[in-house]
Amino acid sequence: MINILTLVPDQKILDLIENLLTIANKSQKTFNFKAKIISNEDIPILKSSELIFNLDNKKTLHIYKKQLGLKDEDLLIIIYQGLLSTEEWTNLFCAGSIPEEEYPNLYVISLKFIDWDILKGLVTPTLQSHAIMHLILYSVVASFTPLKSHDETRGCIMDFCEELTDFNEVLIEGYKLCREECQDVLKETPYNEVINNITNGLKKDYILLDHEAIDKIQPKTAKRLSDNKIFNRFEEISRDPLKNIGSLDEILNELQSKVEEARKVNKRINDILIIIFGTIMLIGLIIILFGALKNQPLETLIGCVFEVLLIWPYTKLNKIKQENLRLKTGVSVFRLNLKSCEFEENKKGKKICIKKVVNDINKFFVGLKAMS
Ligand SMILES: [Zn+2]
Repeated sequence: MINILTLVPDQKILDLIENLLTIANKSQKTFNFKAKIISNEDIPILKSSELIFNLDNKKTLHIYKKQLGLKDEDLLIIIYQGLLSTEEWTNLFCAGSIPEEEYPNLYVISLKFIDWDILKGLVTPTLQSHAIMHLILYSVVASFTPLKSHDETRGCIMDFCEELTDFNEVLIEGYKLCREECQDVLKETPYNEVINNITNGLKKDYILLDHEAIDKIQPKTAKRLSDNKIFNRFEEISRDPLKNIGSLDEILNELQSKVEEARKVNKRINDILIIIFGTIMLIGLIIILFGALKNQPLETLIGCVFEVLLIWPYTKLNKIKQENLRLKTGVSVFRLNLKSCEFEENKKGKKICIKKVVNDINKFFVGLKAMS
């Protein structure tokens, strides 16, 4: 019998997976699934916030595997709470050594995906336990068969899940090994029946779950995860900038489109604010003008209209300085303001004021002729 020992960081995780390991054990007799709590003091490399699954660390875990009394062909799976990387990738769900390697049958599963909100807060602990069990099963299949993860997302246990949301596809399908690739390879191995018995046994428990809850995961987390993907890709590029120079362009374009998106939203908010404040100011101006003109003689109004509709736009459209216009036409913009008209009215009476307005209008046109 081959031992599959999963080391977990605390009682909570142990409680999550124990029942599923029992189901896996009852489904077959080749593998003996066990779980045990491990202290980070036992394996100091688990204390850091990031674990790079490189040769040095594989050696450390291999020595620990021996201390635990496990044989080479037994599988040691460590559930780790930090960020898991290899020389090539980061933000990994799990990483392990292939059977041909110097230190075979070692796997690390990162629980970071729970922090990434793929599962946290959205679904039951039961679904979390099945998510971890999918990764344990991935480790088993990858250790004992030639099957490797594939780039295509098919909701298969062996999906690579480059996009973190792809893992939701795996959960939606539930313990599936794809017909396109994995089933055929598995059939040629001595573990075909054993692995199918385990997946079938776990599926029976899994279909009791509320699948609506699983479907809800994807839209709620898609945005957060696409941001996470950009972070992930930056990490890759910084590890090997020359190799990833092509994807740098791609990622910059992606960021640029996100900035553009944010700008569009900002512009829309600005437009709305301008319309609101513009309307308030216009209403205020109308109220002020109405109040100011209420007790004024008619000529004041004519003078104002003349200035506002004719002289002022004329200077603006032709980009003439008000001072130049005054020199050429003898009419200054806003000369006929309310106060001066009132003054003239007080001094010379209503009629003169009207004459003055008409006189000014004439002078203005005469001056314009002279200018052209
Ligand atoms: Zn597959």
